[in-house]
Amino acid sequence: LHVHGSLLPAETDQPPEALFVFHDITRLKQLENLRKEFVANVSHELRTPITSIVGFVETLLDGAIEDPENARKFLNIIEKNAQRLNSIITDLLTLSKIEQEKEEEQIVLKNCRIKDVLEAAILICDSRANEQQIQIDLECPAGLWGKVNAPLLEQAVVNLLDNAIKYSNSGATIKISANKQGQELVMAVQDFGCGIPSEHLPRLFERFYRVDKARSRTLGGTGLGLAIVKHITNVHRGRVTVESTPGAGSTFAIILPGA
Ligand code: ADP
Repeated sequence: LHVHGSLLPAETDQPPEALFVFHDITRLKQLENLRKEFVANVSHELRTPITSIVGFVETLLDGAIEDPENARKFLNIIEKNAQRLNSIITDLLTLSKIEQEKEEEQIVLKNCRIKDVLEAAILICDSRANEQQIQIDLECPAGLWGKVNAPLLEQAVVNLLDNAIKYSNSGATIKISANKQGQELVMAVQDFGCGIPSEHLPRLFERFYRVDKARSRTLGGTGLGLAIVKHITNVHRGRVTVESTPGAGSTFAIILPGA
């Protein structure tokens, strides 16, 4: 709390008066702390792959380059970490672009056929799903329309499908559905994969939050996928929910208000 006090000019025969102004800076402080924490997180996330790249380059220069088998192994690690940096930066730019466009009110919602958006998202994830023999089942009425930003909604669904694929066993099925529930448009992605222990659910949509850091990293995750989904849902004035049973699977739903 900031308190600012000042003595008012006294009337000749009156006792002196004072004016106190109280500023509640709790909210500002919270925002400032969040910003600091975010910068610290980004720095840490970027430093990890850079440390690995520098380390392996030094090892190569120190002589490991003479042994072709090891040299190849180290170059592969360097490439993986460079790609990781690339994914983190791409995701960070996506987040800041959405924030910026939202602030400038540049994001246009148009009446779109939801099935088209979901099919486009499935197409993008198709090769990854095929690699793991994963089948994606779509259930969506052809006559379902919604007021959405199609590229952004497509990106959100791709992120959910991508996770569903990453955290499923090979040969599994993923269900994606959309329908109207009352006034609301509900799109759900359901997997039958590893699931998420309930204590993690409240923090899942925070930037860089991961249930299992090592696993997310080997699977090529940045920890930003769900933060992007939440941002995109907010832009649509909707919400995103998750239900999960460890060992049985998870359902993520994007719920948008009706037109
Ligand atoms: P990541 O890039 O690590 O996948 P996300 O923001 O997309 O980051 O997801 C955050 C974390 O939530 C993941 O690291 C993972 O632990 C968990 N998660 C997300 N989706 C699923 C899912 N479908 N099944 C199990 N865990 C999931």
